[in-house]
Amino acid sequence: MKECTVLVVGGAGYIGSHMVDVLLRGKFEVITLDNLSTGHRELHPGGLFIEGSLGDIGLLDDIFSSRRIDAVMHFAAYSLVAESVASPLKYYRNNLAASAELLEAMRRHNVKRFIFSSTAAVYGEPTQVPIAEDHPCDPTNPYGASKLAVERMLQDCDVAHGLKFISLRYFNAAGADESGQLGERHEPETHLIPLILKVAAGEREHINIFGTDYPTADGTCIRDYIHVSDLAQAHMLALDALLSDKDSAIYNLGNSRGYSVREVIDIARHITGHRIPAVESKPRPGDPAVLVADSAKIRNELGWQPKFENLENMIQSAWRWHQLDQVKGADATDKSA
Ligand code: UDP
Repeated sequence: MKECTVLVVGGAGYIGSHMVDVLLRGKFEVITLDNLSTGHRELHPGGLFIEGSLGDIGLLDDIFSSRRIDAVMHFAAYSLVAESVASPLKYYRNNLAASAELLEAMRRHNVKRFIFSSTAAVYGEPTQVPIAEDHPCDPTNPYGASKLAVERMLQDCDVAHGLKFISLRYFNAAGADESGQLGERHEPETHLIPLILKVAAGEREHINIFGTDYPTADGTCIRDYIHVSDLAQAHMLALDALLSDKDSAIYNLGNSRGYSVREVIDIARHITGHRIPAVESKPRPGDPAVLVADSAKIRNELGWQPKFENLENMIQSAWRWHQLDQVKGADATDKSA
């Protein structure tokens, strides 16, 4: 196979680090660009690591002129709904304006394949569930709006400059890879599953249930969880498609099965054996009630087949990672003491 080089922007983050690992195992050359604002250097699995930001135009030019890059995968974005409602400009600057810099650098250096981490948040409150790619897009928060704006920019760059892109609209990423070496670590943590596991590990007193009056069977929000390794596999298929000169496309990535917040907590109780106290709280601004994917398109067109579909698997792997990460954290504290 011809040697291919992929630039992974945001490769030290949760999903990006899993992606770098899969690319390296697939014998791709990998260059990671990450400013470590939310990523972790020690979670980066290998290949060349460059610490820096998308806004650094000189650095982008250096990277693109120093070697031939076959494709770019872009994971470097802020992704917290509530934060985006409170600080929209932070989201438009980092998620939209910085992506424009990256695309501009790719155009200058004639790099024409791009895989984009998009999100179910582009749809807003769905009028039909499960949500297919042709569902209208009407984001309820600046995070979703910033991602939708990038998708629009990609379509325009395809027309104007022949950029070929695949945009993957993730539903809720969860879990950790089988090796136990990689997993989810955010500071501060805001995501449901890692927060529940912190309660099970005794690091927090309780989990807040954000909103109990949603129009769902148990009143709590419903989300479609997808294992991070299945997400990475979908990116490999997208990369293959672009390397085989397929056309630009947008795909949903989810399992087409929704779980309410209460159901997620119950499964975690079962897996961890901890009672995980839950406190009913106010809804979080910008949260749609139900997000469940119809992902038939990527299954049919690219042959995507998730391996870890059930939520028990995802929580089990996240729990294993959480316990290992705690041990590593304790070791590091011991050594520095
Ligand atoms: N959620 C919750 N308590 C928390 C964190 C999240 O009830 O402490 C809810 C949140 O309102 C949403 C779901 O869990 O309905 C998933 O949230 P998460 O932040 O994990 O992912 P998002 O859907 O925002 O991408």
